[in-house]
Amino acid sequence: MNQCPESNKCGGCRYTGTPYEEQLKKKQKTVKQLLGKYGKVCDIIGMDNPEHYRNKVHAVFDFQKGKGIVSGIYQEGTHNVVPVDECLLEDRKADAIIVSIRQLAKSFRMKIYDEDTGYGLLRHVLVRVGHATGQIMVVLVLGSPILPSKKNFVNVLCKLHPEITTIVLNVNNKKTSMVLGDKEQVIYGKGYIEDRLCGKTFRISPKSFYQVNAVQTEKLYNKAIEYAALTGRETIIDAYCGIGTIGLAAAEHVKKVIGVELNQAAVKDAVVNAKINGIKNADFYQNDAGKFMIQLADAGEKIDVVFMDPPRSGSTEEFMNAVLCLQPDRIVYISCNPETLARDLEYLTGKGQKNRAGKSAGSGKENGRKNYRVVEMTPVDMFPYTDNIETVCLLSKLNVEHHI
Ligand code: SAH
Repeated sequence: MNQCPESNKCGGCRYTGTPYEEQLKKKQKTVKQLLGKYGKVCDIIGMDNPEHYRNKVHAVFDFQKGKGIVSGIYQEGTHNVVPVDECLLEDRKADAIIVSIRQLAKSFRMKIYDEDTGYGLLRHVLVRVGHATGQIMVVLVLGSPILPSKKNFVNVLCKLHPEITTIVLNVNNKKTSMVLGDKEQVIYGKGYIEDRLCGKTFRISPKSFYQVNAVQTEKLYNKAIEYAALTGRETIIDAYCGIGTIGLAAAEHVKKVIGVELNQAAVKDAVVNAKINGIKNADFYQNDAGKFMIQLADAGEKIDVVFMDPPRSGSTEEFMNAVLCLQPDRIVYISCNPETLARDLEYLTGKGQKNRAGKSAGSGKENGRKNYRVVEMTPVDMFPYTDNIETVCLLSKLNVEHHI
């Protein structure tokens, strides 16, 4: 990989000078160190072409003395904007669109939002590319709701980049580090894009989570579904389901899918995604995953497999306690942070419960509840050149033999 001139400033890449094979080895070692004591760590699944994989690109806009309008990335841990035109991790078309918007901002005399004073208009641009479909969504995040010469701006931008399929205005006038605000207005196209993963079509709205590396996501989901060893008879939970990707990819191999997700836009997408793929055995609920699981446990539902894919902060004791009550045969834990995964494995395997509850989890059978053991785990490199590590981990009930 070529050296990126900004890599020292932006903090996004950690390994610009390090050959990819070495990066993989380093990540493998980290996972082994953090998680090896819980069970077998299989070889990390790497990428064939580990550059320009990010299908979601965010640029913050700024006005800088001597430079004029710049767009780029916040320098790590600060609100200083490092100008970036091309990034070795990001989709090339997305980067080119952001450069064009910057040039148009100048010719349309758009005021750039000033974070200190709260004045100005253009704040961020978010571009999302459907890896398999080529559909592209541009979200213009503004400090106030009106974009002057809106029609003209859309026409010129779409002429420069006919690959853009939708443009959305998002208003964020709050002092916040969140990129998107609440209000949205579609000014071109449908307001969402679609992508294809694991043979299914997925609608993605501006506010919904979608994995940033589609190529590796397929490998990750395939591994997760393999770990679940589905027979067609199972009721499965897809917890922290986003737009329903894991549950819907698994739907044809199970009796029933129950998905839960906090973000309302994502749940709406998940419901539509079931429909457009003709999937009738999947239901999605908008709720906190922990609260929802407690309801299921209280109702005495029979759940066979729990897929859980929480954010970086990991899961909660509330959630995991409910899982321990539900006693699924298998838990497939997908994690983007091996440190919180280690903490949660400690809990699910019983050791953490002992520490926290102040009483012994004994033989692993407490109130008829069995604890879980890690069967094996596989790291998947979703984020080459950064030090983020994704891991998929299979747990099964203690003393129950499972074959993969
Ligand atoms: N499984 C999905 C999404 C994983 S990202 C995929 O692979 O695309 C984690 C998701 O958890 C996000 O969509 C986020 O909105 C959701 N989330 C965060 N906290 C949550 C909570 N307390 N309860 C339910 N979902 C939550």
